[in-house]
Amino acid sequence: MKYISTRGNAPELSFEEAMLTGLARDGGLYVPATIPRMSAEDIAALSGLDYEETAFRVMRPFVGDAFSDDEFREIIARAYAKFGHIARAPLKQLAPNHFLLELFHGPTLAFKDFAMQLIGQLFEAALERRGERVTIVGATSGDTGSAAIEAFRGLDAVDVFILFPHGRVSEVQRRQMTTPEDANVHALAVDGDFDDCQARVKDMFNDFAFRDEVRLAGVNSINWARVLAQVVYYFSSAVSLGAPHRQVSFTVPTGNFGDIFAGFIAKRMGLPVDRLVVATNQNDILHRCLSGQGYFKGETQPSISPSMDIQVSSNFERALFYAYGQDGAAVTQLMEELKSGGFNVSQGALEALREDFDSGAASEEETLATIAATLRDSAELVCPHTAVGIKVANETRDPAVPMITLSTAHPAKFPEAVERASGVHPPLPPRMSDLYDRPERLTRIANDLAAIEDHIRGHIAR
Ligand SMILES: *Cc1c(COP(=O)(O)O)cnc(C)c1O
Repeated sequence: MKYISTRGNAPELSFEEAMLTGLARDGGLYVPATIPRMSAEDIAALSGLDYEETAFRVMRPFVGDAFSDDEFREIIARAYAKFGHIARAPLKQLAPNHFLLELFHGPTLAFKDFAMQLIGQLFEAALERRGERVTIVGATSGDTGSAAIEAFRGLDAVDVFILFPHGRVSEVQRRQMTTPEDANVHALAVDGDFDDCQARVKDMFNDFAFRDEVRLAGVNSINWARVLAQVVYYFSSAVSLGAPHRQVSFTVPTGNFGDIFAGFIAKRMGLPVDRLVVATNQNDILHRCLSGQGYFKGETQPSISPSMDIQVSSNFERALFYAYGQDGAAVTQLMEELKSGGFNVSQGALEALREDFDSGAASEEETLATIAATLRDSAELVCPHTAVGIKVANETRDPAVPMITLSTAHPAKFPEAVERASGVHPPLPPRMSDLYDRPERLTRIANDLAAIEDHIRGHIAR
């Protein structure tokens, strides 16, 4: 299995190389050269399997010969061992033909643990075999950073530096990043917003001298291995509801488009998915784009669903690559236009996107009202991101097709908004109840590439 760049101008890589590289050298994102198909029989055979075995069967064709079957099974087993639920991604019914896929039973209580815990184990296995070490850098609007830190803390071959927007992540998110005591963990509070953090990480990757000096590796949602890990729960949940004999739809609270893009891959692999619904908060660039208004950046508006507060949605480039018929030159052109504000999507590409994707947005008031209504009608306390998904699912769904809305975080990660909406204070699960008592450790840093690079040079183990 070979991986190619969405901009068509970087070397083809193996799974392991694409995973360790992150961003392609032409600025593009890696995608598989061809998407493997699972037959209806292969999918039917997933019925009744545990999550780990489903993960093995769904991901195996993408991994090629990077790991033996036994090694890959052990990696998967270690990745999900710290989850607090034996089903890993349980389904709950919310309303007739509407289901919640609970993706928050991992160590940091958000869906990013699914990908990050796996990537931690994949990196460790690959680096140990190569006798190498790497420096992981990532930008986070909250949940990616803590998930990366939990996945890499204490590993010998890795230093991890996480950039987050100072003052713009929730207290639980910040504490999850600043309280691990492991010496290889470095939390950097940047004076800027999430887009600034993401831009500085991109700049570091484009500074090839620095990239090579510190052996930079990225685990942001652009990393192909993360997308791949997320494909699994589309299969496990659809099969629970009767796939491949019955179609299902998904609504996905969306920021960087990584999670929903995994759904697109599942569909291309052969999973019978009817609609993939993009749900955004007031930062609605994706909803505007899919509504035919072009892809134009605005100012990021801080919201009560901060993990979706983005203007530039990095994985959308992958969807554009397929919508433009895998034309790397066309994608390169669009990304050039994006630097000066945005671009219009061609009619043909828009039609291609709309074959798979619907979209909707929720305002702050609608999000709060949905948290209250969901508690009243279904006895479920949901986080604000999940509420955005439920609101959009309710207004777009076909009642005849089962709708699975992804529940992306535990309500206790966003206690202020949940309590404001519902009057109920969501408690942390017992395994994390001392989070507010642990000492914090972080470095506040300017939104300046040279300052950040200097800090990293000075703090990696060589
Ligand atoms: C990251 C995140 C999202 C958005 O996911 P993307 O893959 O960036 O689209 C939604 N909800 C929560 C809780 C998240 O942490």
